[in-house]
Amino acid sequence: MSLTNKILLGMVLGVLVGVMLNLLLGLDETQTTATTTYGQWIQVVVINGVLDAIGQIFVASLKLLVVPLVFVSLVCGAASLGGHSRMGALATKTVLLYLLTTALAIALAIGIALIVEPGAGVDMAVASNFTTPTAPSVKDTFINIFPSNPIQAMAEGNMLQVIVFSILFGVAISRTSGEIGKSMATFFAHLNEVVLKMVMLLMQLAPYGVFCLLVKLFSSLGFGAILDLAKYFFTVLFVLLLHAFGVYGALLTLVTQLNPVVFFKKMWKVVVFAFSTASSNATLPITLRTVEHDLGVDNKIASFSVPLGATINMDGTAIMQGVATVFIAQAYNIDIGIAGYLMVILTATLASVGTAGVPGVGLVTLAMVLQSVGLPVEGIALIIGVDRFLDMVRTAVNVTGDAAVSVIVGNSEKMLDRTRYENMTLNAETDPV
Ligand code: ASP
Repeated sequence: MSLTNKILLGMVLGVLVGVMLNLLLGLDETQTTATTTYGQWIQVVVINGVLDAIGQIFVASLKLLVVPLVFVSLVCGAASLGGHSRMGALATKTVLLYLLTTALAIALAIGIALIVEPGAGVDMAVASNFTTPTAPSVKDTFINIFPSNPIQAMAEGNMLQVIVFSILFGVAISRTSGEIGKSMATFFAHLNEVVLKMVMLLMQLAPYGVFCLLVKLFSSLGFGAILDLAKYFFTVLFVLLLHAFGVYGALLTLVTQLNPVVFFKKMWKVVVFAFSTASSNATLPITLRTVEHDLGVDNKIASFSVPLGATINMDGTAIMQGVATVFIAQAYNIDIGIAGYLMVILTATLASVGTAGVPGVGLVTLAMVLQSVGLPVEGIALIIGVDRFLDMVRTAVNVTGDAAVSVIVGNSEKMLDRTRYENMTLNAETDPV
């Protein structure tokens, strides 16, 4: 069986076993410990013990790769692009496309939520004893892009700062003349191969890691909460799927004339990683590998666009924030009007830039969106119960967006290998780097 199929099997089994355990042990958001002694043993030793340990080791091994991979890959990309006069235009195009797709995502979310009215007639009693999260300001988010200490940026996994430093380093290599510049570029190209090999080695763990993560998550998920918030939950889910398949599919077809079915098939593995880790950052090694190797985007583009996307492009998160804003406005019976919703599109697009690619942060930056239009931040308490599952799905949409934009930019810069894109027999796990 191929590794991709094993990973898929791990996902399906993980969800099934998790849901079964959840029903068997009777766990939900109010009942967090099993009632029988046998059930408690399973919970403590199996779920929170062995499975949790393996799941955490798996996520740690993915995160371990992120900084070395982004640094080395981006230095390589920038070093070979450094002399290229289009570098600035390329970066601008990528950022604009990221912002545009996010704004589109949130407009779609608001539009559909206004029709469905998910928040009409909601009981707000739960929101009373909720501590408001503090969201970072737009100014701080911007200042934070520029590193004062690259080692600290790497140690803290501050991706925007690592990106800025790596580009500078790569450009400097390309401008260093003679043997020194050449040998440094070769050194980093070799290092890149070694780091990619590490990605492949650690991916062997994936089927087991995915299984353990999903059993743990689904066994403790409160399915009751999903029923209580069914309208909100399914509206978010619907817009997420519509955006992923409809908007990205249409963009790929119209702008690049590529077959979107191939894109989605090749992205499956990445989607499973994003779904089980709920973290764009942890998924980054797999996204980068798939975008370069399977979808055929040149390293010069992918090494920049994928890490940048994992950090600033969060269409799925923006969709959740759009629906959540409408939901909270309706639950509190506050009409924020057209101007209010335009403001939401603007702030949620910025919030998406400021949302780190780790689990649950979208809910924190939602505070910033709500504040911008004077909605009560305590409203977040109403939707927190179903956020874990939505986080998994929206992260999958976030990374799909990163890959779609990378393909579009690659194609427009003539740095997309279309034959490679269309070749369905490629196998990133076994092919030499
Ligand atoms: N978990 C999301 C991600 O990593 C961010 C969020 O919406 O909380 O992409």
